Amino acid sequence: MSVMRHALLALSTNAWMRDRATKTAFVRRSVSRFMPGEQIDDALRAAAELKPQGITTILTKLGENLSHEAEAEQVTLHYLDVLDRVAAAGLDAHISIKPTQLGLDLDRGLCERNLDRLIARATERNNFVWIDMESSAYVDPTLDLYRRSRAKTSRVGIALQAYLRRTAKDVESLIPLGPAIRIVKGAYLEPPEIAFARKADTDENYFTLCTRLLAPDARKPGALLHIATHDVALADRLSAYIAEHAVPASAYEFAMLYGIQRGQQARLAREGKRLRVLISYGEYWFPWYMRRLAERPANVWFVFRTMFG
Ligand SMILES: Cc1cc2nc3c(=O)[nH]c(=O)nc-3n(C[C@H](O)[C@H](O)[C@H](O)COP(=O)(O)OP(=O)(O)OC[C@H]3O[C@@H](n4cnc5c(N)ncnc54)[C@H](O)[C@@H]3O)c2cc1C
Repeated sequence: MSVMRHALLALSTNAWMRDRATKTAFVRRSVSRFMPGEQIDDALRAAAELKPQGITTILTKLGENLSHEAEAEQVTLHYLDVLDRVAAAGLDAHISIKPTQLGLDLDRGLCERNLDRLIARATERNNFVWIDMESSAYVDPTLDLYRRSRAKTSRVGIALQAYLRRTAKDVESLIPLGPAIRIVKGAYLEPPEIAFARKADTDENYFTLCTRLLAPDARKPGALLHIATHDVALADRLSAYIAEHAVPASAYEFAMLYGIQRGQQARLAREGKRLRVLISYGEYWFPWYMRRLAERPANVWFVFRTMFG
C-alpha cells in the first residue's frame, strides 16, 4: 500500500484534523469537486441535472459511527423525508445508508428497525435502499442485517468489497437469495491478513466476483449487480465479458461517484448503458473526503492547487 494512501486513511479517523480541516476554506472548496453541497437540496438538484443524460442516482448523507440513539433517529427521519422528496421530484434516485448511521454500534435491533422503516417507505415510493459496507469489523453484522432484510423484501442491496479475502465466500453464500450486490474495491485501511495488499489482486478479484454474479445460476429474481468502479479498464473488460456472454441488461448497472471520471460517466450514458451516480451530501464529510483523496494521489495535488489557485 502506498505511503500516501496509508497516511490519508489514517488521517480520516483523526478528530483533531477533522475539526480543523472542515473549517478551512480551501479544503471546503476542494471538496466541492466531489460533492454538490452539504444540503439534500444540493443533492436533489445535482440528481435532476443528471437526469436528462439518462443517468439515475443514489443519494447518501455523510456520517458514520454515531454514538446516540437520538442521532440514529434523526438520520432515519431524514432519509424517510428524502424518499418522499425523491418521489415528489419524479427522480429515479435510490438511497444508500451506512449501518452505523442507523445505530449499529449502539443496538443491532435498533439498526434493523430503522432500516425496516426506510425499506417500508421505499416500498411505498417504489424505491430502493442500498446498505454501504464499512470497515472489516462490520462485515458480519452488515451481512446479517442484509440477509434478514432480503428475507422480507427485494428492495434492498448491499455493498461488498473486492479487497477483502473473504468476499468470494460471502458472494457464494448470498447467491441463493437473489441478491442485489454492489461490488466496490474497498475504501478503508485494512491489514494484509484481511485484505489484499496488492492492488492488482484486488482488481482481479473484482473481475472474478462480478463475473460470478453475472453467471446464469446467479441471475435469480431480485438479483442485480452494481459494477461500482471508476476503473475504466476494468469496466471495459467487464463490458466485453457481458457482450460475449450475452448477459441481459437487466442483470447489472454501472455505478460511480459524483464528480469522478465524468468523461467515463458521459460515455457510458451515451452508449446507453445503465449508470447510477452516487451523490453524497452532508456536513460530516471529512473521513469520506480523506478516503476519496487516498484513492488517487493526484487528488492531493488538486487540493494544493485549490489552496494556491
Ligand atoms: C457507487 C459507489 C459506491 C461505493 N460504496 C462503497 C462502500 O459501500 N464501501 C466501500 O468501502 N467503498 C465504497 N466505494 C468506494 C470504493 O471502495 C473505492 O474506494 C473507489 O471506488 C475507488 O476505487 P475504483 O474502483 O474507482 O478503482 P481505482 O483503481 O481506485 O481507481 C481507478 C481510476 O479511477 C479514478 N479514480 C478513482 N478514485 C478517484 C478519486 N477519488 N478521485 C479521482 N479519480 C479517481 C482514477 O483515475 C483511478 O486511476 C464506492 C464506490 C462507488 C463508485
